Amino acid sequence: MGSPWHSDVYSRIDSALSAGHLPICVFDLDSTLFTTAPRNYRILEEFVALHGPEHPDLVSAFSELREDDLGWNVHDDLRRRGVTNTELLESLKRFWAERFFTSEYLAHDRPVPGAPAFVLGAHSRGALIYYLTGRHVGGMEEGTVRSLRRHGFPFWRGRCVVHLKPSFEMADSTFKAEAVADIRSYQGQVVATFENEPGNANLFLRSFPEAVHFLLMTVHSPNADPPARTLKKIPDFR
Ligand SMILES: [Mg+2]
Repeated sequence: MGSPWHSDVYSRIDSALSAGHLPICVFDLDSTLFTTAPRNYRILEEFVALHGPEHPDLVSAFSELREDDLGWNVHDDLRRRGVTNTELLESLKRFWAERFFTSEYLAHDRPVPGAPAFVLGAHSRGALIYYLTGRHVGGMEEGTVRSLRRHGFPFWRGRCVVHLKPSFEMADSTFKAEAVADIRSYQGQVVATFENEPGNANLFLRSFPEAVHFLLMTVHSPNADPPARTLKKIPDFR
């Protein structure tokens, strides 16, 4: 049995269908359906393997870190654990960015607990599943498809949309605002949205006030907007 909010979303799907509307559920990917901590950890591990021999403080900071300790910026996590060499931290930033935004490294992500089962449930009840992600076209599309499939998210069976950012450079918030227009073009009824970024969740709330909007309490960007009070906060999909 799922939590009460599962039944709420599922019954919203049923009601939309019986009123003759296409129910739509919108899901962000990073830090919503997938945890990126293993991707971050793997990149850090490779960096430490490369630079550890000349930087013992890097090795000892890394040895204190568990996957779940990783926040938004891996260099901040190391700085807090005593790595002070600015050049080294700058070179980690570059090393990280060259890997984090690639299909290859998406293979390390794990689904947030309960996510595949919940999304499958929504799809099999008749909802259109709209995967909306700031991952970009031109580097992350194949890995995105592979990881959705590998972890059992609905994909091949119709009523599934995967919408990636058209270019790396576009700001995520601009992209999500434009995506609202695409979602509307289906002329269905948005019943639920799921996001980890408060600013995006607020945007969905303003755009689709009749739906229920969830905020995943995973990680979010520094200086994020304060979340609207009516967002439903959940730790995962169980
Ligand atoms: Mg996200």
